[in-house]
Amino acid sequence: MINIVCPIIEKKERQLIKEVLDSKILASGKYVEQFEQSFAKYSGAKFGIANANGTTSLHVALLMCGIKPGDKVVTTPFSFIATANSILFCGAKPIFTDIDPKTFNIDPIELENTLIKERNIKAVLIVHLYGLSCDMDAILKLKKKYKFELIEDSCQAHGAEFKNKKVGSFGDAAAFSFYATKNIITGEGGIILTNDRKSDKYGRQIVNHGRDTYSIHTVLGYNYRLTNLAAAIGIAQLEQIENRIAKRISNALKYNDAFKNLPFLKTPSIPTNCRHVFHQYTIKISAKERDMFIKYLAKNGVSSGIYYSSVIYKQPFYKKLGYKSGLCGQAEKIAKEVVSIPVHPVLSKADTDKVVEVIKSYGKC
Ligand SMILES: *Cc1c(COP(=O)(O)O)cnc(C)c1O
Repeated sequence: MINIVCPIIEKKERQLIKEVLDSKILASGKYVEQFEQSFAKYSGAKFGIANANGTTSLHVALLMCGIKPGDKVVTTPFSFIATANSILFCGAKPIFTDIDPKTFNIDPIELENTLIKERNIKAVLIVHLYGLSCDMDAILKLKKKYKFELIEDSCQAHGAEFKNKKVGSFGDAAAFSFYATKNIITGEGGIILTNDRKSDKYGRQIVNHGRDTYSIHTVLGYNYRLTNLAAAIGIAQLEQIENRIAKRISNALKYNDAFKNLPFLKTPSIPTNCRHVFHQYTIKISAKERDMFIKYLAKNGVSSGIYYSSVIYKQPFYKKLGYKSGLCGQAEKIAKEVVSIPVHPVLSKADTDKVVEVIKSYGKC
């Protein structure tokens, strides 16, 4: 079976983990600080706050932007549920706006309509889904016009670029995940990026019980700290990220070329001003065919995944909060059409050849 994910752990990870174990400094330690600095530098942001996971990163990022109970935060319904949940953690209200079916990301035109209709929007939480940056020119223009805090959910987009600038460096704060299936892994882990020194200081307090100096706690905080062990893995991972992105892109371009004339599927589009890092390679296939197609792939040794089979507001918990179907028509339609296929850097040429052959033969049997 050709798997949809394949975590990579190499010699460097083992070596650094051994060093941490030998040092017996398992919780906060020098690797946490080193990882924060290297990841922030890599992403073109001034400050990085390592912490427990992508979800806690989102929560802290929203708090750093001053999100309070009752505030309205606009986001996409086509993402992992953690995106919207983090808004609820703050006691704020998620307002869902529709996506562009070509990029799977928030449609700036829809976003502007929502900003006009809803008024008093405190923040916009965008998601660079599958590793593709949102249209940052359009979104920054709206930020200037409507004055909202901008948070980037970059959990799938380490190293992704818009006009040669990396995601995570555009907004007031950004959240990344290093969960075991992401493009950089530490098992569980996350980081918040910001360019604002005051905000960085506040975020650092939030992840560490609101602590200002030793035993002085000035704000409400949590224990969202990252371990030295996890950070050591992250450092080794970060050293390899560009090689691994290059392999993902090369696999994706091979698929885009091989599948371009197939009538039953649509390949992902890559806007010319973006570097798509292909956390997922996601095709669209008609809703009626999708189940059959996925079964066909599995029967022929190719695993696949659906990210995401439902928009967030149609999840039972969100229905209970009063959200109704039909809110975002494009996102609801797309949720029935997407299929992600293996694109990770461990795939051999034989693997990607096989994926191409299997998919090209669909419908001939
Ligand atoms: C993975 C992910 C998260 C959550 O990250 P965790 O580290 O699993 O908490 C949030 N948003 C998106 C878009 C993700 O892909």
